Amino acid sequence: MSAPPIRKIVIVGGGTAGWMAAAALSKVLGAMPGLAITLIESEAIGTVGVGEATIPQIVHFNKLLGINEAEFMRETHATYKLGIEFVDWTHLGHSYVHPFGQYGIDMLGIEFHHFWLKGLALGDATALDAYSIGAMAGKAGRFYWPETGNPNSPLSRLAYAFQFDAGRYARFLRRRAEEAGVTRVEGRVTQVEQHPESGFVTRVALENGTQVDGELFIDCSGFRSLLLGQTLGVPFLDWSKWLPCDRAVAIPCTKRETGAEDQPLTRSTARKAGWQWRIPLQHRVGNGHVYASAFMCEDEATETLLAHLDGTPLASPNHIRFTGGHRTRVWDKNVVALGLAGGFLEPLESTAIHLVQSGIARLLAYFPSTAFTPVEIDRFNAETAQDYLDIRDFLVLHYKATARDDSEFWNYCRTLEPPDGLKAKLEMFRSSGRIVREHNELFTETSWLSVMACQGIVAGDHHPAAALLPDDEVLRRLSHVRGVIASAVSQMPTQDQFLASIGGA
Ligand code: FAD
Repeated sequence: MSAPPIRKIVIVGGGTAGWMAAAALSKVLGAMPGLAITLIESEAIGTVGVGEATIPQIVHFNKLLGINEAEFMRETHATYKLGIEFVDWTHLGHSYVHPFGQYGIDMLGIEFHHFWLKGLALGDATALDAYSIGAMAGKAGRFYWPETGNPNSPLSRLAYAFQFDAGRYARFLRRRAEEAGVTRVEGRVTQVEQHPESGFVTRVALENGTQVDGELFIDCSGFRSLLLGQTLGVPFLDWSKWLPCDRAVAIPCTKRETGAEDQPLTRSTARKAGWQWRIPLQHRVGNGHVYASAFMCEDEATETLLAHLDGTPLASPNHIRFTGGHRTRVWDKNVVALGLAGGFLEPLESTAIHLVQSGIARLLAYFPSTAFTPVEIDRFNAETAQDYLDIRDFLVLHYKATARDDSEFWNYCRTLEPPDGLKAKLEMFRSSGRIVREHNELFTETSWLSVMACQGIVAGDHHPAAALLPDDEVLRRLSHVRGVIASAVSQMPTQDQFLASIGGA
C-alpha cells in the first residue's frame, strides 16, 4: 500500500529562493485538494539583498508560472541579458563576450567552431564574437526576441535572460503565490522540533509563539541554513581551494548621465584579487566586487568598487561573506534546501537563481510521499551534487585560463591544479579542438568554447572533416556568417526601443 501523500509543506525563508519555490509549487501542486503551503519569513532578518543577473532558463520558469513578460519587465525594472562581457580576464586590455545561444551555424553536420579553428589556422584571426548574434547584438546595445520557429534565421541562434531587481522579483512572485493560496507567516524561527527517533523535522516555533507543523520542510533560510545545516547538521563541502573568492561588497548606483543606452550585457571586470560586476537595470546599475580575502582586505575591496562606478552610490556598501561549495546532502530526511541554504558558487556566471529553479524542478520530479523513500532522495542528491560540480569546473576555468601575472591572486589562479573534470576538458580541447559535454551539463558547447578560446586556450587541431572543405570555401563561409549576423543585428531595435515597444519599460 502506498504511503499517504504530503499535505503540509513549510517553506522557511522568503528570499528569492523561498518565493520562487512558493510560486512554483502553488502553481503546479496548488490544485491538489488538502495541500497546504506555508512560507515563513522574517522582515527583521531580511534577505541577502543581491542577485540580479540570470541565465536563459529563467525565461522558461516565468513561462511555467504564466508570467507576462512585459509586466514582469516593468515590475522588476528588468533589462535583457544576451551574455556576459568579460573584461581584463585574459590579460589587461582584453575583452570578449560569453554569449547565450550558439556561434555560427553547424556545417556538414560538424560544429561551427571547427571551421572557425580552421579559419584561424589559415590566418583569419576574426574573434569569435563576430560569429555570435548574441555577442554582436549585446555590444551594439540591441535586442529582439529569438525566432525559434525559423532555423534559417540568425535570430534562431539567440537566447536571452534577464537582469532584474531580485527584491522586486521576490515580491512579484509573492503576490502570485499568495493568490494561489500560499499562507505567509511573518516572524523569526527560533526553535526547530524533531521527531525523537527519526530526527525528521516536525514543527518550527517562532519568536512570537506561533508554531507551524509540517511534513515536508523546504529550507530557504539563506546562508544560515537553519534546518539543513544548523538543525540536521549536514556538512558543507568546501571548494575554496578552487574558488578562492570568499567575499563580496555590493552597491547600487545611478545610471550614467550621458543618456547613452546600456548594452543588454552583464559586465565582469577582473580586478587585482577578484572581479567586479556591473548589471544595468532600467532604473539603476547593480555593482559588486567579489574578492579573495586572503589577497585583499575589505577596505581596499570597497575602495576599488567605489572607484569604478558609473554614477552616484544609492546605498551604503553591503558586505557579504561566503564559501564556495554546497551541503553534501541538499535533501536530508524531510528537509530539502533551495538557494543559499543548500550551497553557493560565486556569481561569476549568474547560476544561483538557476540552481533554485533546477532544485524546484527536481523536487517536483522526485516529489515525496510521507514515506520519503531513500532511493529517490539519494538520486536527488546525486543529481544536485553533479550540477554543482559541473558549474564549479566551468567557473574554475575562468580563473585558470588567464595570462595575468600582475598580482599574487592571479598567480595563484593561473598555476592552480584544475579539478579532474576540467583537466580532461582542457586536454581534449588542446589536443583536438573538441569540446566534451558530459551528461547534459548546464553549460553548453558555446559556453565552454567561449571561455576556453577567448581566454587563450589554444586548440591544437580541428575536426578532420572540416579539413576536407577547401580552404577558400571555409574562408568564404566564415565571411558569409559574419555578414549575415552583422546585417541581422543592424535591423534589431535598441534595447530601450524594444522595451518601449512591448510596454515593458
Ligand atoms: P536570502 O535572500 O538570504 O533569503 C533568506 C530568507 O530566509 C530571508 O527571507 C530571511 O528573512 C529568511 N530567514 C533566515 N533565517 C530565518 C529565521 N530564523 N526565521 C525566519 N526567516 C528566516 N544569483 C544569481 O542568480 N545571479 C546573480 O547575479 C547573483 N549574484 C549574487 C551575488 C552575491 C555576492 C551573492 C552572495 C549571491 C548572488 N546570487 C546571485 C545569489 C542570489 O542572491 C541568491 O541565490 C538568491 O537571492 C537566493 O537567496 P536565498 O533566498 O537563498 O537567501
